[in-house]
Amino acid sequence: MSGFRQARWNEPLVFERSKIGTIAYSLPAVEKEVQKALPKPIESIPPTLRRQTPPELPELSEPEVLQHFVRLSQMNYCVDLGLYPLGSCTMKYNPPINERIVQNPYFSWLHPQQDESEIQGILQILYELKQWLAEITGMNQISLQPAAGAHGEFAGALIIRAYHAENDELATRREIIVPDSAHGTNPASAAMAGFNVVVVPSNNDGQVDLQALQSAVSKRTAGLMLTNPNTLGLFEQKIESISEIIHDVGGLLYYDGANLNANLGRVRPGDMGFDIVHLNLHKTFATPHGGGGPGAGPIGVKGALSPFLPTPLVSFDGTKYYLDKERPKSIGRVHGYLGNVLVLLKSYAYILHMGSLGLKAAAEHAVLNANYIMKCLEGVGGYSIPFAPDTWRMHEIVISAKPLLRDTGISARDVAKALLDRGLHAPTFYFPAIVEEALMIEPTETFSKEELDRFIEALREIAEQAYDNPDLVSRSPQHTAASRLDEVRAAHPRTMALSWRMYQKRSKSQSTTQA
Ligand SMILES: *Cc1c(COP(=O)(O)O)cnc(C)c1O
Repeated sequence: MSGFRQARWNEPLVFERSKIGTIAYSLPAVEKEVQKALPKPIESIPPTLRRQTPPELPELSEPEVLQHFVRLSQMNYCVDLGLYPLGSCTMKYNPPINERIVQNPYFSWLHPQQDESEIQGILQILYELKQWLAEITGMNQISLQPAAGAHGEFAGALIIRAYHAENDELATRREIIVPDSAHGTNPASAAMAGFNVVVVPSNNDGQVDLQALQSAVSKRTAGLMLTNPNTLGLFEQKIESISEIIHDVGGLLYYDGANLNANLGRVRPGDMGFDIVHLNLHKTFATPHGGGGPGAGPIGVKGALSPFLPTPLVSFDGTKYYLDKERPKSIGRVHGYLGNVLVLLKSYAYILHMGSLGLKAAAEHAVLNANYIMKCLEGVGGYSIPFAPDTWRMHEIVISAKPLLRDTGISARDVAKALLDRGLHAPTFYFPAIVEEALMIEPTETFSKEELDRFIEALREIAEQAYDNPDLVSRSPQHTAASRLDEVRAAHPRTMALSWRMYQKRSKSQSTTQA
């Protein structure tokens, strides 16, 4: 959008705004008699554990707190502002009604240590959510505990371990196979669970190379981690052969279901031959990501693996809901209590609202939107579409800015930055690693055709500008709250300050080195 300007507040840190003695709350005075009768919690804490000085908290008035955070929000981009085409992240619309539902005091005031008889309602909801997710994925049993996709992967990798340990094969089954197009969390989770990672290459069609897979498997294979559609947005056509190859050598198939958007109501990992799956409710099932709240990464398994799932499991005996804790083969707990229950509740509301036909329609629109963008970008100078250009994509597409870089010196990073100047969020870039100058675009089902056109037009305009005036493009973004950041410095352990205390320490050490 020409004329786009992001707010630029010179907003100090909340600690720097602090004025001692300012308070943001007003509570009614407690009567003397009541005060006397109140317990004195501080006296029950051993003196050695008590703070000697009060905590250093910022002190501001209520309007100042509000001002501070609204200003910060104006210097940011959020999913409610428009297209957020971050590939592999499924940044879809997060209906605010779901936030209202979880604020209902019957949910928000529940205590995790309440007796099962008092929380039958939420247990029923969690149980039904499990049943729905099992149906959607084609799995037999679900645990809702993991708090993120990577957390679900880790729990899944521990289940692969537990399964081979039960068969006395863990000593030899040390390898997990991962395609070179995989999300980085896959090899990381496998390694954290103690496995060695074996990478198999993709072929020229962007699919797992079956011959390479055949020669990678052996008695050492513990399992394969795969996402389908893969990170190129391509459906792995040979999934049944892949499944056979792994199962024939006694390995398990793990499905990375972070981005299930293309599959909803169409195909199920369980039917493709997968034994374990995780889902990202904060992607496919419309709950906020990251700063918008905690996530949820439930895992599902086929029947034979259910004894290994995290404990306890929300269960139903025909008359009441209960927590099944008698699970001796379980990998144990992976989260306190039942997981991020209010996040789970938001996804329950989403699925209930959409219904099976709604979910199926969401999948169809997500695929249609991705392919619409691909078709519109075909032949636009500067961009190319690597791998199987004539094959329909699923939930996302990956384009390459390699021709643009060759012709003009403008890289995928520059294109991403120039999009910010047009009031759009950038796609994922430089991932998957098998595509040079990759721009990975996932439009999701929730944005209108006008919004998609605006994005396509912006990509076209940036390429044209790169040929006419590359310097202009390489200087973007100009109209955002912060211009181009020094990414290396921002992520460097010597400059990074993640807390006020760390920031003060850093500033002190910097001023002494300068002196
Ligand atoms: C997002 C994503 C993950 C990781 O999920 P987190 O919740 O960020 O841990 C794993 N695999 C794929 C394909 C993803 O897109």
